[in-house]
Amino acid sequence: MNGPLVEPGSVLGVLGGGQLGAMFAQAATRLDYRVAVWDPDPDAPAHHLAAYSFPSPFTDQKTFTEFAGLVAVVTYEWENVPAVLCERLERTTPVRPASSVLRRIQNRLVQKTFLAGQGFPVPRFAALTEPGRLAEILDQLGYPAVCKTATAGYDGKGQWKIDEPSSVFSVRDSLTASCHSTMEWIVESFVPFERELSVLVARGIDGQTIVYPLVENVHEAGILRMTVVPAEVPSTVVERSADLARAVVARMDGIGLFCLELFLLPDHRVLFNEVAPRPHNSGHYTLDACNVSQFEQQVRAVTGLPPQEVLLTNPAAMVNLIGEDAETVKRDVECRRLLGLPGAYVHDYGKRAIRPRRKMGHVTFLAHDVQTARDRASRLRQSLLQASRN
Ligand code: AMP
Repeated sequence: MNGPLVEPGSVLGVLGGGQLGAMFAQAATRLDYRVAVWDPDPDAPAHHLAAYSFPSPFTDQKTFTEFAGLVAVVTYEWENVPAVLCERLERTTPVRPASSVLRRIQNRLVQKTFLAGQGFPVPRFAALTEPGRLAEILDQLGYPAVCKTATAGYDGKGQWKIDEPSSVFSVRDSLTASCHSTMEWIVESFVPFERELSVLVARGIDGQTIVYPLVENVHEAGILRMTVVPAEVPSTVVERSADLARAVVARMDGIGLFCLELFLLPDHRVLFNEVAPRPHNSGHYTLDACNVSQFEQQVRAVTGLPPQEVLLTNPAAMVNLIGEDAETVKRDVECRRLLGLPGAYVHDYGKRAIRPRRKMGHVTFLAHDVQTARDRASRLRQSLLQASRN
């Protein structure tokens, strides 16, 4: 039994106050809910949109008592919030997705072991608990490979690509330098993917599931730069990805909004890269190109409303504004021209400090056809790159 509908007017608790939490708060407000944001960073954007804001450490007992007493349901905007906090909250309040789902996802080794154990396709991988055993593991797994911290890595942080045996020792030394006693890593075969894809899945408390269109993603240095929707791949790939994504979320008994990242192989098989138990950067197109955004689906799922059928109103392409890009789009002539085109939607996350790999905002281009949307996004991307070199 997953509990009754959370009545409008109730307070929804969100752990984490970044742009995803802020967009969740906007969607919740539109559906007549109030939001309590708990994020230790007082500058986190969602604090400004929250009815109740808790800028205190996740270990703060006073905040725990106040927050737990206030909220009708709890969700989170990223997977690195403490699972133990979710478990404590869950004793009195529904947490959606459940802490058991978070536990399964937030450690990459646990996640991949679960997916592989359930028969879902994933890259070959092995566990590493001792940096000194890296060479031995790579002898079995082969080259090239990627070594990732099992926990707390995101946007390519805590990842090392290992192309050949001669680079094993420098990576081993980096692992040793960053190591603490309980540290572990996942070593994966490097997948020679043709494209990267992702798909959003909304699943309600009664198991009703909605799958969004498949999208294509372009990453650079481990960080998402561009998303194009719909992905230009054969319909068999679209159908198989949707079926797999729906099955993964059901097998986890996930309630909420999930994003599943996939690699498309040259022979058109797909492998899972990662499952996110929350809205995702590659789903920001849903704000402008769909009848219902990923954030509204998150609100609907966690409050017990049924997920809504999705209509993609236009093909779209999204470009992330990272670090200095946020300033460049305001002054570069070509960027300004592109942002002035009909169908260009600019989102500024309102973050004060610009830092090199920080996501500052994004732009979505809607068009009548996917090629036009892709071209506009590519031109913006090129202009941003050009400006960053000058
Ligand atoms: P992750 O943080 O695991 O999503 O990785 C960030 C990005 O690194 C992915 O989107 C891929 O571009 C790349 N990557 C991660 N794992 C692999 C892999 N096993 N093979 C090839 N590329 C990978």
